[in-house]
Amino acid sequence: MENMLPVLYIVASVLFILSLGGLSNPESSRRGNWFGIIGMALAVVATFFHSKVSPDAYATLIAMLVIGGVIGSIVAAKIAMTAMPQLVAGFHSFVGLAAVLEGINSYVEGAGLTGAEHVIHNTEVFVGVFIGAITFTGSVVAFGKLQGVIRSKPLLLPGRHLLNAALALASLYCGYLFFGAHDAAQGMTPLLVMTFIAFFLGWHLVMSIGGADMPVVVSMLNSYSGWAAAATGFLLNNDLLIITGALVGSSGAILSYIMCKAMNRSLVNVIFGGFGAEEGKAAPAGAQPAGEAVSISVEEVSGMLQEAKSVIVIPGYGMAVARAQHPIKDISDKLRAKGVNVRFAIHPVAGRLPGHMNVLLAEANVPYDIVLEMDEINKDFPETDVCLVIGANDIVNPGAIEDASSPIYGMPVLEPWKAKTTVVLKRSMATGYAGVDNPLFYKPNTRMLFGDAKKSVDGLLAKLQ
Ligand code: NDP
Repeated sequence: MENMLPVLYIVASVLFILSLGGLSNPESSRRGNWFGIIGMALAVVATFFHSKVSPDAYATLIAMLVIGGVIGSIVAAKIAMTAMPQLVAGFHSFVGLAAVLEGINSYVEGAGLTGAEHVIHNTEVFVGVFIGAITFTGSVVAFGKLQGVIRSKPLLLPGRHLLNAALALASLYCGYLFFGAHDAAQGMTPLLVMTFIAFFLGWHLVMSIGGADMPVVVSMLNSYSGWAAAATGFLLNNDLLIITGALVGSSGAILSYIMCKAMNRSLVNVIFGGFGAEEGKAAPAGAQPAGEAVSISVEEVSGMLQEAKSVIVIPGYGMAVARAQHPIKDISDKLRAKGVNVRFAIHPVAGRLPGHMNVLLAEANVPYDIVLEMDEINKDFPETDVCLVIGANDIVNPGAIEDASSPIYGMPVLEPWKAKTTVVLKRSMATGYAGVDNPLFYKPNTRMLFGDAKKSVDGLLAKLQ
């Protein structure tokens, strides 16, 4: 039966590649998901054919599969769409912890190896444990920040760059002791010391990143978890794990690059920068907005929409919280039936997950051809009659363009203030994720429609009936 293994591995690997290909486009993403599900099912089945898995172990393996499967299904069924980013961060932490435990276990198991085999094995152990430990604590902090149990502001310890450099050097020194050890007992101490240093490094690196840089961190941890899995694949001599880890690692790295470009930040800056702040000081709040915010009623907004010839909807995190995507889709249908040009504008870091808004709009069956990326639609705001900003804040902050003292200065944003009228639907004057005031709310052509976005949009829909 064992010669089935390479065949299953190759088929599963091809399915994972097809899955990634499918996920690159909303129209093929369902198919992509199915490829991934089938590939993973094959990978799990293949485990039973592995030479190291004796039939005696089948009962334990099946029990673990059932327990894991039941927990996974319950979590997936219960999780709110808005909590998806922290779920992803939580899963990354498991991959990191698994890599650490597997690395240490494999070090003990591989004690008898000699020569080149010994050196290669030890390198795999050391690198795998290092990446795994950083991924573990980094992902736990990312989970805490996204869940709101850890404050999202960056922790900027004095001399933090020096501290990071010293910790990196200390890890290298541990590596020197580890590779020079005569036996596993002697090598275990530097391995464990490095593990704790890497735990601290992961914690510190993500603690010192704040506000709007979190999307890059989430995708970077995604990439790290892939490389940690690949390192584990080398330890276990498992080709499928190496391939899968490399796919996750490289796609996460590409995504981090795309997110950095979208936010006009360099990767090095994000990892080591803290967020737009000097050491030991909190991030600047930006200039105080001038003017007064003017509120508007549902009736008035519905009147405006009935008069409009072109409308742009900008969804943000608040739309996900309120689950307002379905009624807003109904509103867009109504307006489009009357000949109004309605489009949706997507910022690359809107919401709390790459592609968050695209997923919600796809769930509500908004046609893909009226969903446009920031670069495609920004030029159209001056010819737009009404712009509806649904629970978005940081991604429509003009301070990012106009106010050099703003912590998000330099980040490309959607530009609704160029439309004839902009209506912002949110519950209060509170700031968004980056904790920065938004001058958009005080612009002369901006109106605030206060309240839960779902209730406001439902009200609008009722008026348009
Ligand atoms: P923001 O977090 O900037 O703003 C969301 C706004 O929604 C809030 O100001 C809030 O105001 C409002 N809101 C919340 N609940 C409701 C509700 N029920 N009804 C109406 N309004 C509501 O979101 P954006 O999408 O504009 O920007 C995303 C931010 O998140 C960026 O800073 C980005 O960097 C960051 N981020 C993005 C990630 C990604 O991968 N996309 C990952 C992690 C972070 P109020 O309380 O007044 O209602």
